[in-house]
Amino acid sequence: MRAAGTRTTADGPTPGRAPSPAPATRSGSGRGVGLHDGGALLELQRQAGNRAVTHAVTVQRDPPDAGTGDLDTRRPVGGTVPADVRAQVFDPLAGAPRAQQILSAIRALRGDLAFPVRWSSRGTYHQAGEIWLDRTWTTAQLIVAVEHELTHLHTFLAGNAANITTMTREAFVAAKMDDEIAAHAAGYVAHMQLGTAGAEPQGYTAFQQHLRATDAEALRARDWARIEALARTWVRAQYRTGAPGWRTSNTDENYYDYWGAAWDRAHPGTTTRP
Ligand SMILES: [Zn+2]
Repeated sequence: MRAAGTRTTADGPTPGRAPSPAPATRSGSGRGVGLHDGGALLELQRQAGNRAVTHAVTVQRDPPDAGTGDLDTRRPVGGTVPADVRAQVFDPLAGAPRAQQILSAIRALRGDLAFPVRWSSRGTYHQAGEIWLDRTWTTAQLIVAVEHELTHLHTFLAGNAANITTMTREAFVAAKMDDEIAAHAAGYVAHMQLGTAGAEPQGYTAFQQHLRATDAEALRARDWARIEALARTWVRAQYRTGAPGWRTSNTDENYYDYWGAAWDRAHPGTTTRP
């Protein structure tokens, strides 16, 4: 057993375009930044580090098969995840009604569930309608991450993704955080429904304690909507207070400040900062 914090990475603030260079070639942050002008903001994204907008997965035990000798050839970065591996990650979600609900909404928007799934070398994340799976992660870790990323994919497809270019500072920060918080909360519920062993979402254990302490009745009744609402409130509080593990790893910033600063960088000369 170990408690290594393998962390997934963040979605870009404007996931409407694929970044350049391709995400697989960038190091540091896991941001899928879809900016038109790159430059300073892209650098800020990199500096935020892998914990940026934490989609963390806590590894609970060593993977049974950690052999990675030929990952490079079997899992080329940017390459399409083979159907059998994709099925190993996505099929178990059939056991999570919350994940199925989001997948149904994705299907309604796309017309199918054939969204691209590619191999990543820097975490598992959503970007511009694609889900990238870290090629070194175990199936259990990937399932946990996908429970979270489905929300980001849906937000993107619904046209509700935060847009750093077109939104006001306040709206951008709110949209960015709302989506992140929603993804955490939906992921918690999906994970509770699945009960997958081997990995768990970031903050999951602490939230379970909070749930038992504050609304044991919702837990007993499996009132998922109530549990998810409680999760959103709890996760928001972690972000708002900048609790340990809920701040940027490199700059040690509160995420509300972090995204506000990102907007400022993207809008030089604008003096709307409070
Ligand atoms: Zn996220």
